[in-house]
Formats: sequence, structure tokens, C-alpha cells
Amino acid sequence: MTEKTLVILKPSCIQRGLMGAVISRFEQKGLRLAGMKMVQLDDAVLDEHYAHLKDKPFFQCVKNSMKSIPVVVQCWAGKDVANVVRRLIGVTNGRDASAGTIRGDFSVSMQENIVHASDSAQSAKVELKRFFKETEIYEYTLSVESNLYSEDEI
Ligand code: ADP
Repeated sequence: MTEKTLVILKPSCIQRGLMGAVISRFEQKGLRLAGMKMVQLDDAVLDEHYAHLKDKPFFQCVKNSMKSIPVVVQCWAGKDVANVVRRLIGVTNGRDASAGTIRGDFSVSMQENIVHASDSAQSAKVELKRFFKETEIYEYTLSVESNLYSEDEI
């Protein structure tokens, strides 16, 4: 079973009409979409998801933004996918993120930075359980798999 990671298309992505552009980045890289749905986040799930930020002065502001409209949660699969996706999205602050990354190309903000992605394979396991039922994650093989990976990478 390939590694999986959580991506959230944040309200900034949806409001600005960037969902297709962002999804294209992951598709073009060669990642496989294993799950996707729209959800309205609430305080309970955000308190859990952003527990590491609870003492920060901007915590309430981040939560208000994340629950302002529904978001799109996605599960992407691939070899070493958590690290691959983190490199594709760039650093937290859109103003500092390298050109060519999602945040670097589409964001000028620390908070309104378009996407969330799990920061490691271990946190991806916890975060995927937070947003998806097991039956909402799909196992299938991309027909181009042999063009994406060498035999010994699969
Ligand atoms: P990342 O999303 O890059 O993993 P963090 O887990 O540190 O970053 O923060 C979660 C989210 O909280 C960020 O993506 C961003 O939207 C928001 N955030 C982080 N730091 C700040 C800050 N100093 N001011 C405003 N919002 C912030």
C-alpha cells in the first residue's frame, strides 16, 4: 500500500478560484488522488487539528478563516508523498515561499496560504483519520504507474 497524505484546499483557495490550478500541480507531479470531499469545519475539529497553535495570538483568526466557508479535503498517494507534497506547497508564509511552489506562486500571506498539507508521514496517518472514514479512501492503480516509477520503486 502506497504512502498517503492529507491536503486541505483552504477557503483562500476556493474563494480565489484556484482549486483546479492547485489540483493540477499534484496531478502533474504524478500523485494519485485517493479521496476527496467538501466539509464544513467547526471549532471541535479545528481545535484538534491546530492544537499546536492553541497558545498563539493568531489562533482564533486562523480558525475563523478555516471555518468561514467549506473546505475541500483530499488524500493524495504516492512514494514518500508527505515529503513530496510539502516540497510542492512551499513554506508557511506565501511571501517567503519559493517561486514554483503552490504557496510561492499563489499566496502573499502567512495565514491565507491556500493549502494545508501534513508535515510528515506519521502526522498524515493521524490527520487522514481525522477527516476521512476508511471507506472514503480508495485503492486503485494509475494506468501510467510504470511511467511514473521504475520497477524497483513500486
Ligand atoms: P503549516 O501550515 O505550514 O504546516 P503551521 O502548522 O505552523 O504551518 O500553521 C498552520 C497554519 O496556521 C498556517 O498554514 C497558517 O495558515 C496559519 N499560521 C501559522 N503561523 C501564523 C502566523 N504567524 N500568523 C498568522 N497565521 C499563521
